[in-house]
Amino acid sequence: MTQTIETPSGDHLMLIGGERVAAAAGEWIDVTSPGRRGLSLGRTPRAREEDADRAVRAARAAFPAWRATHFKDRQLALLKAADALEAAAEELAQLTAIDTGNALRPQARPESQTLVALFRYFGGVAGEFKGVTLPAGDDQLQYTRREPLGVVAGILPWNSPLMIAAMKVPAALAAGNTIVLKAAEDAPLTIIRMAELVAPYLPDGVLNVLTGYGAEVGEALVQHRGVDKVSFTGSSRVGHHVASAAGERLAHVSLELGGKSPNIVFPDAVAGDRLAATATGVLTAMRFTRQGQSCTAGSRLFVHRDVYDEFLAELVSQVDRLVVGDPLDEATDMGAIINQKQFDQIKSYIADGRAQAGVEVPLDRSEQVPDGLDGFYQGPTIFSAVSNDWRIAQEEIFGPVLVAIPWSDRDEVVRMANDSHYGLAAYVWSQDLTAALDTAHRIESGWVQVNQGGGQMVGQSYGGYKSSGIGREFSIEGAMESFTQIKQVNVKLG
Ligand code: NAD
Repeated sequence: MTQTIETPSGDHLMLIGGERVAAAAGEWIDVTSPGRRGLSLGRTPRAREEDADRAVRAARAAFPAWRATHFKDRQLALLKAADALEAAAEELAQLTAIDTGNALRPQARPESQTLVALFRYFGGVAGEFKGVTLPAGDDQLQYTRREPLGVVAGILPWNSPLMIAAMKVPAALAAGNTIVLKAAEDAPLTIIRMAELVAPYLPDGVLNVLTGYGAEVGEALVQHRGVDKVSFTGSSRVGHHVASAAGERLAHVSLELGGKSPNIVFPDAVAGDRLAATATGVLTAMRFTRQGQSCTAGSRLFVHRDVYDEFLAELVSQVDRLVVGDPLDEATDMGAIINQKQFDQIKSYIADGRAQAGVEVPLDRSEQVPDGLDGFYQGPTIFSAVSNDWRIAQEEIFGPVLVAIPWSDRDEVVRMANDSHYGLAAYVWSQDLTAALDTAHRIESGWVQVNQGGGQMVGQSYGGYKSSGIGREFSIEGAMESFTQIKQVNVKLG
């Protein structure tokens, strides 16, 4: 049996220039567990501008030597770090469950495994951040160098901190940048622990971690002239602001923002024994086992009218079996919502949906609270007969709330799917290759999956269209574009 880690407590310090430090002003933020209201997890420093400046200086100081390091050594460092993270994977998974409320079995463990896999992947391809040579004649040497940008500020959300950190840290470091990570105020503990585990393999200052509020230390990083690139993952609202602030001083910027992704079910995906498998796939794509707190949640479900009732009945029956409970319990399918604000917001969307004329509610376990637990627990809700222009169909709820909409014609469903200011992910369910790929190609989203609904695969491209973001950091090509800049060198020989 797996041993449960001790409940975190005490002061969880930041990492700046290889030192474990508190905030310069000596201020703190209390950390609590979403799964157990009132359970203290200790406190983290409330960093402000002065701390951001110190971390950026440390990262700048470490940059020249790190960029000059042979890629084999950066590779080795990342691979050793991956081994250390793998040895601590269960600890990191449990810490994720405690810190974020994400259930251990379906979400937190896969997340810590993804962290390890991405350190290995980007460690492995560290030598690929390279340029090209132009065949410009024997008296010319014309080549490009892919040079690191410098100091990257990685700003993280709370919903899956390790996974998002894994999408930034190893790629940025493999390319020769140094990094300052800003953990989300609601889920900082796994990031601090990850840094502790990785730090022994990196020179001081190559990886730095700050904790604190977005409006304080986050803003200070975005504005800091010593930050060459802002790599932001979070809400579209804050993302717009980050883009304009970084744009003002012409800093590089990548934005991974929100989504309201479509799940499109064709009649043949429901035929015979495919019914159950497609429903399970939609359940996964909706990220119910992350309480819907995922930017790629397929939260708008479009089902063909011919199979609408049959499919919805199967989906409701599967979703209704999900166990809501303590994130650390192996039996739990759905853990807790991150905080009171998010919890209240989800409830207000449900009230708004219920108030719409003609809406149907085939499943609503939103008031379900597991016995003996006092946390932000929220069972799944499915709305049916929804109109695509209602708020619950247009706005990102970031909770376990799915809206179902019938369709009759492929053009109509593509139009409805694209009628959103978001464009992050999409899921198409059909055995008809032409119908599936025609739909996939016409959807305005950065990532379309056909007949599967899982998370990002190591090595794939990932990023948003429209208000879901700018830039692609994931994949080797994305990382090359996002974490390096090209220098052309032309030499006259002889
Ligand atoms: P958020 O935008 O409120 O916060 C994200 C981070 O930005 C936090 O660390 C926060 O402290 C910081 N921040 C806030 N204001 C800032 C400012 N003025 N300057 C600099 N930093 C600031 O988002 P959240 O509530 O933590 O996360 C949920 C959102 O993140 C959802 O919209 C979700 O879709 C999105 N998200 C997107 C992806 C993706 O890959 N596209 C992944 C995960 C989450």
